[in-house]
Amino acid sequence: MKTTEIFKYKQVFSYEVFPPKKSSNVSTIYKTIEELKKLAPDSISVTYGALGAKNNEETFKIASAIKSYGIESITHLPCIGLTKEDVLEKLEELKKLRIENILALRGDLPEGDYKKGDFTYASDLIRFIKENGNFNIIAACYPEGHIDCKNIVEDVKNLKIKVDAGASQLMTQLFLDNNVFYNFKEKCELADINVPIEAGIMPVVNKKQIEKMTSLCGVKLPKKFIKIMERYEHNPVAMRDAGIAYAIDQIVDLIAQGVDGIHLYTMNNSYIARKVHEAVANLLLEKKAS
Ligand code: FAD
Repeated sequence: MKTTEIFKYKQVFSYEVFPPKKSSNVSTIYKTIEELKKLAPDSISVTYGALGAKNNEETFKIASAIKSYGIESITHLPCIGLTKEDVLEKLEELKKLRIENILALRGDLPEGDYKKGDFTYASDLIRFIKENGNFNIIAACYPEGHIDCKNIVEDVKNLKIKVDAGASQLMTQLFLDNNVFYNFKEKCELADINVPIEAGIMPVVNKKQIEKMTSLCGVKLPKKFIKIMERYEHNPVAMRDAGIAYAIDQIVDLIAQGVDGIHLYTMNNSYIARKVHEAVANLLLEKKAS
């Protein structure tokens, strides 16, 4: 099923997992998926490392396994370094595996030289996928603006190019201040971006994790969040529980404000996903027929 269809009748709740870095740990992801299955997810997406990360061959296998569990799956696909032939090959593989949903990305540019390939922006990949198959194409978006872009207005204009190229659903980078998301939604409406936008939420359960995200993606830390970190950073259990509570608080507000969907960055931790799910499952209402 094309995941965009699900937004027509409910607020969506989806999860993101990544292939374990070490091949010896690959089996652990299947246990995580079995646990996530108990949470009745609307879909699970699987990340894919740009520029030939070692564990990439696992992405499609995991996405295919998710489907065999009766859950809709989304595969991520970053395009930097890929030729058109590379992408055609991947699309053929996905067709064989009956995977219908692709999160089409550029990928982070590395420092220094790298093999350029045939695609500059995610919109180039989106256009190419659209011309070469019947896939549901999803794109990434950035409530605080993408780190490479000079300002949020330019970034939203570039997002509109992705939607016009064929993206029918969007997923945001994580954010810790819901007002940032609501302002971004307004800018999208002004730019005539009318596809469903899933809010990306990451329960932050340790300081290192968020330090990495702020340096990689420029995510801003609200004062309220900094206070939590300062208080609990040396107490792992308290930090974990506070991070989960913070994410739940964000999600409750987003759902009440009528968000199209929540995309939970699980970090492959099914305990965290379960705790969040237990707190919010009853809040996700079906849409009334109009
Ligand atoms: P683009 O949409 O191409 O944008 C990149 C930059 O170029 C932006 O600053 C944009 O404003 C600008 N731009 C876009 N189009 C134009 C244009 N026509 N003219 C001028 N400027 C333009 N990375 C991975 O490697 N693997 C993953 O699995 C992965 N999953 C992700 C999932 C989500 C939900 C998100 C939010 C990000 C994910 N990323 C992943 C990270 C992503 O690859 C990086 O953020 C990357 O730097 C940008 O990717 P993009 O698809 O948004 O690129």
